[in-house]
Amino acid sequence: MTWNPTTGCTKISAGCKFCYAEVMSKRLHAMGIEKYRNNFKLTLHPDSLLDPYSWKKPQLVFVNSMSDLFHQDVPLKFIQQVFKVMNDLPQHRFQILTKRAERLETLHRHLNWTENIWIGVSVEDERVNWRIDHLRSIDAQMKFLSLEPLIGPLKKLDLSGIHWVIVGGESGHKARPIKRKWVTEIREQCYQWCVPFFFKQWGKPVFNPNPNDPTINAVHPQHAKGGCSLDEYISHAFPEENYSEEEFTLHVHKDKLIHLPPLLIDSKSVFALM
Ligand code: SF4
Repeated sequence: MTWNPTTGCTKISAGCKFCYAEVMSKRLHAMGIEKYRNNFKLTLHPDSLLDPYSWKKPQLVFVNSMSDLFHQDVPLKFIQQVFKVMNDLPQHRFQILTKRAERLETLHRHLNWTENIWIGVSVEDERVNWRIDHLRSIDAQMKFLSLEPLIGPLKKLDLSGIHWVIVGGESGHKARPIKRKWVTEIREQCYQWCVPFFFKQWGKPVFNPNPNDPTINAVHPQHAKGGCSLDEYISHAFPEENYSEEEFTLHVHKDKLIHLPPLLIDSKSVFALM
């Protein structure tokens, strides 16, 4: 689920070009939704701070899917209020993703990084590799990279202190292509650093090197935009806290492989096989 104590943002790098939050904000604004009265302008929503206290069951929460919590117009005091909510509710796991890695590093000592808070930075190509260094230096207990939308190679990743890597291609009609080589280079680096690798999607079928990938089909249980198989496997590895070192290494290298059904099968047989 998502939780948006702020909405709106401003673009800061190439990864923002076709920002999903901007498109959605415009749509919701046009529909007259009060929370989006300011369209895509950065707006604080103090009333939303109470929302998580009403959730009955433990949730996996994407914080600020419609904004960037570390945007310069979000005061530290407000970020601390957001953290207080997350600190109060250890039964929920909160995932925060930012492109403002410098501000994250500047402010991190003023925030309480309980273990239910996972923090990641977006890196779309080598021009913003430096964001990873800022992430590495902070106190959080679980740090991840979102290499999405991947629009260029990332050949020299320093994954020390990083616990999870997610990779994905861009979707939408003007989407920029992702290359198989870029993805396999990242996968190889994850293996070398023993970091769980999660390949989310190709973005569009035309970017998928395997036109017969059954996960392109919307009825496949592992369906993702443009499909998500890579060299005939689905790589959906997660960081797991309860592995021994030996088990963890094995787990990472096995990459939670789910063998796909034989290729070139129609949607009905995919369904039957699963
Ligand atoms: S930082 Fe994220 S929310 Fe902000 S403009 Fe860029 S892609 Fe959109």
